[in-house]
Amino acid sequence: MTTAVVVGSGPNGLAGAVHLARSGVAVTVLEAADTIGGGTRSGELTLPGLTHDHCSAFHPLGVGSPFLSRLDLARYGLQWDHAPIDCAHPLDDGTAALIHRSIDTTVEGLGRDGPRWRALVGPLAARFDDLATEVMQPIVHLPRHLLALATLGPRALPPATITARLFATPQGRAAFAGAAAHAYTRLDRPLTSAVGLMLAASGHRFGWPVARGGSAAITSALAAMLVDLGGTIETGHRVTSTADLPPSDIVLLDTSPQVAVDIYGDALPRRVQRAYRRFRRAPGAFKVDYAIEGTVPWTAPGVASAGTVHVCGDADEVFAAERQVARGEMPDRPFLIVGQQYVADPSRSHGELNPLYAYAHVPHGFSGDATEAITAQIERFAPGFRSRIRTTSVTSTADFASGNPNYAGGDVIGGSNGGLQVVFRPRPAIDPYATGIEGVYLCSASTPPGAGAHGMGGFNAATSALRHL
Ligand SMILES: Cc1cc2nc3c(=O)[nH]c(=O)nc-3n(C[C@H](O)[C@H](O)[C@H](O)COP(=O)(O)OP(=O)(O)OC[C@H]3O[C@@H](n4cnc5c(N)ncnc54)[C@H](O)[C@@H]3O)c2cc1C
Repeated sequence: MTTAVVVGSGPNGLAGAVHLARSGVAVTVLEAADTIGGGTRSGELTLPGLTHDHCSAFHPLGVGSPFLSRLDLARYGLQWDHAPIDCAHPLDDGTAALIHRSIDTTVEGLGRDGPRWRALVGPLAARFDDLATEVMQPIVHLPRHLLALATLGPRALPPATITARLFATPQGRAAFAGAAAHAYTRLDRPLTSAVGLMLAASGHRFGWPVARGGSAAITSALAAMLVDLGGTIETGHRVTSTADLPPSDIVLLDTSPQVAVDIYGDALPRRVQRAYRRFRRAPGAFKVDYAIEGTVPWTAPGVASAGTVHVCGDADEVFAAERQVARGEMPDRPFLIVGQQYVADPSRSHGELNPLYAYAHVPHGFSGDATEAITAQIERFAPGFRSRIRTTSVTSTADFASGNPNYAGGDVIGGSNGGLQVVFRPRPAIDPYATGIEGVYLCSASTPPGAGAHGMGGFNAATSALRHL
């Protein structure tokens, strides 16, 4: 029987493991941490009874994943819950841009900019399934949905700062800028509209749901399916060299390229080692989880009903903050992603206490404390917020790195999306998953299609391995 070892139990590692196991391979997953899940872990970070997501929170890419959506993960306990509003972006004048799952409701709310939003995002949302099939595989492939790609191409190429100028109102510009900021890079460069457009389109197709009970439900379901298929998972097993690996026909590495170099060293071809060492990392994340009494007192109507809240101010402030962070400077007013998962999933809360999630984009390896900057940004759009905080739990860039070797410097997206690395990751190659060592493949968020709890890196790498066999 063919055997495989998967190093790392993030969504990509487990998706790859399930795909191999479904193809008749005997799979063992080795995970460094004491719990599985990588960037999908959740738990009681502040007070008993409050469930916080450690990392990933909103999952348009999980629901819409061409691989995960084919598996019956509901059978293993995965349920998706939707907030009434997917995303809000409050502004200083007490208004907010609101993005709903329904494009019609979004368009109506955006007033003068509604028709522009429909013209820009609508055609992508309408062809989202075809687009996802195309962009969630390596760039070098025979395209099957040319119309969908032709719709995306001209929209994705311009810098996000230019695309934002299509909108006439501060709300329209902010709605787009907030989505674009998920690219985690300076937004005045070509191709930086792509991530924002895909996120907005995926939201209109699937919503931005949370996993009931915490994001850990995604990887628990994958793990349960793997065990049913005969696979095994060992936690507390960090792989630092090939001596830590049992013999197998296939190895999938759900690791950063640097960890692949640490494990395999000179067994990797020289050119691959060089490319992996040169792989550029993204800025960092600094996260504060709050236990709050009641809800956040947002000034703008609608924001309290949103799952995700983009907090920074207007589009120009978003672009300036992202530029500063990319240059290695900490902005006074950083861009925040605030998660109100409890709106969609009340099981996360305990009585009147709710778990609030907020992280800021900060420079790579930022060693300061961004707690006050994060709290002040929320207070700016929700006066009185401070008085509702019962306690906090802070995750610095160093904490992210110590909890997960993939998050060096607090880079939580598996490497920079700047320049061509957004598509050619971890290196330009026809098979980006191949490491140059027979049977050994990289499958983490550092491979296409990049960050997100969608499992497609794992599925694609496992597909490469099976093709090779
Ligand atoms: C704060 C934050 C917010 C996010 N928000 C979202 C979101 O809302 N939606 C979304 O879709 N995504 C989000 N993400 C991104 C998402 O979590 C990641 O892109 C995703 O988890 C990547 O999956 P992966 O399997 O590639 O790697 P990971 O999830 O990082 O898992 C890798 C696993 O491998 C293990 N490992 C690494 N090296 C070794 C080794 N040498 N030996 C053994 N084990 C090893 C690690 O311990 C880890 O468990 C967020 C991430 C963070 C941190």
